[in-house]
Amino acid sequence: MMISFILLGKYLEIVAKGKTSDALGKLTQLVPDKAYLVAIDTDGNIMTETEIDTQLIQKNDIIKIVYGSKIPVDSIVIKGQSYANESMITGEARPVDKSPGDKVISGTINENGCLLVKATHVGSDTALSQIVQLVEAAQLAKAPVQQLADHISRVFVPIVVVAALITWLGWFIPGEAGIYPKHWIPKAMDAFELALQFAISVLVVACPCALGLATPTAVMVASGMGASQGVLIKGGDALEKAHKVKIVVFDKTGTLTIGKPEVVSAVLFSEFSMEELCDMTISVEASSEHPIAKAVVAHAKRLRQKFGSCIEEVPDVDDFEVHMGAGVSGKVGDRTVVVGNKRLMHACNVPICSEVEKYISENEILARTCILVSIDGKIAGAFSVTDPVKPEAKRVISFLHSMGISSIIVTGDNCATATAIANEVGIDEVFAETDPVGKADKVKDLQMKGMTVAMVGDGINDSPALVAADVGMAIGAGTDIAIEAADIVLVKSSFEDVITAIDLSRKTMSRIRLNYIWALGYNILGLPIAAGVLYPIAGIRLPHGLLVLAWLLPLLAWFLRLFCCSSIKNLFI
Ligand code: AMP
Repeated sequence: MMISFILLGKYLEIVAKGKTSDALGKLTQLVPDKAYLVAIDTDGNIMTETEIDTQLIQKNDIIKIVYGSKIPVDSIVIKGQSYANESMITGEARPVDKSPGDKVISGTINENGCLLVKATHVGSDTALSQIVQLVEAAQLAKAPVQQLADHISRVFVPIVVVAALITWLGWFIPGEAGIYPKHWIPKAMDAFELALQFAISVLVVACPCALGLATPTAVMVASGMGASQGVLIKGGDALEKAHKVKIVVFDKTGTLTIGKPEVVSAVLFSEFSMEELCDMTISVEASSEHPIAKAVVAHAKRLRQKFGSCIEEVPDVDDFEVHMGAGVSGKVGDRTVVVGNKRLMHACNVPICSEVEKYISENEILARTCILVSIDGKIAGAFSVTDPVKPEAKRVISFLHSMGISSIIVTGDNCATATAIANEVGIDEVFAETDPVGKADKVKDLQMKGMTVAMVGDGINDSPALVAADVGMAIGAGTDIAIEAADIVLVKSSFEDVITAIDLSRKTMSRIRLNYIWALGYNILGLPIAAGVLYPIAGIRLPHGLLVLAWLLPLLAWFLRLFCCSSIKNLFI
């Protein structure tokens, strides 16, 4: 009977696992089998077109995506205009506008015109493959709470065998020695048989399956649910830690703010003309990936056009250097150009006069960032950059407060701008002008105070802090390095998913705890009854009850798991 129950338990477990694998299988099926490989001329006109297997697509191949078809590999649009349905990857229901230069994700659907795209990531490098790999790895990696269940199950079996042996001895020896009344032994039995029945009852009743099965299933369901909501959890460990989070550290640019900065004004502070300032700024900033650099370059190009310059004429940069969280520098011709914040200017021994100071403070009060440009050790001009706060940021911060979680900003930007943003969204603590290592150190400081810290960031400069934090959350639209460093990836880049991740973890952990209480409570109650403690008082022996209980046991475990799965799912319906 016991072997049947164990097999039944295993069978139910496989059914549950199969369901999650089905979900992953469906994800991989999103990729079409065939694709149209095309050759184009210099004007982008199609010269030849061949249907090939998706697996044969190489990086940089040009693929034609017709209306209504699925995109085979991650690529970049080079011709055409369309809308893509990316809901299967990001959870975002609205179709996303796609035009030349935009990225498209494999497995998503082209919902409008015809696109020509250039493959950027193929095979196991596509976002879809990475998601599948992440979810699979997450499901294999055991959460500490799961390891506890395994550990308990491991010591549980010998304990139960010993308890059964003691039960047998406890009934057999007194029975043989005539310590308890002879009429306690049923007519058709002797003391040996009675003792054996109690011992078997103990063995059968003590079944740790509810404990062993419910925990991994809850973790699996939670990571599956997270993935379908655009919250990729890279392992049970992250899922478990997220429920203990007491403080969330936010990066500013691209995390709290939209991350698409725009230049609102440009000024000159020296004898250089605006055209010269723009030329040199573009030369240095064009090599930087920072969103501020992109905004500055775009604005400088517009200004140059206004002055009638041709974009191709920008001089080259030598000795280009990135100063993480501060700016960039390089040599343009024989001039040394530094573009960045005040801290960088101090580090490069560039003096800042009162006129510049005034311009900086006027802008910082308005939550704008001032990007200073120094040429040959003198401030030549400045750009004032604004990056609006995400509309949902205030709501998310106040919701986190209501969950008992406090928030702080850690940014490389200046204190006045960071404070203005903090006031706008309702964050009380600000750590500004921090370099990437400083961000990680701040996280460690908070951990030293005994707090479980979550870090939310998007950039390369957030990576050390994302790794240092108990739970690192990367905004999906951020850099690959940040996504690599994080424990949880918010694929939709939606700020609200910080709450989704923490809430999912809290609900999952409370279900698992409930499962423990059920499983242990059942055993604590059932074992003494099975061992016959009620037999002398009430004549209760388990052979009949035992059968019922034994049959109910796998069912009980199964219902517990269903309960735990559905209650997690219900959170999101
Ligand atoms: P971050 O920590 O990436 O937000 O950067 C902190 C600050 O450094 C920014 O607010 C800018 O003032 C400055 N900064 C960083 N990179 C650049 C860049 N490429 N160009 C100009 N300023 C930069």
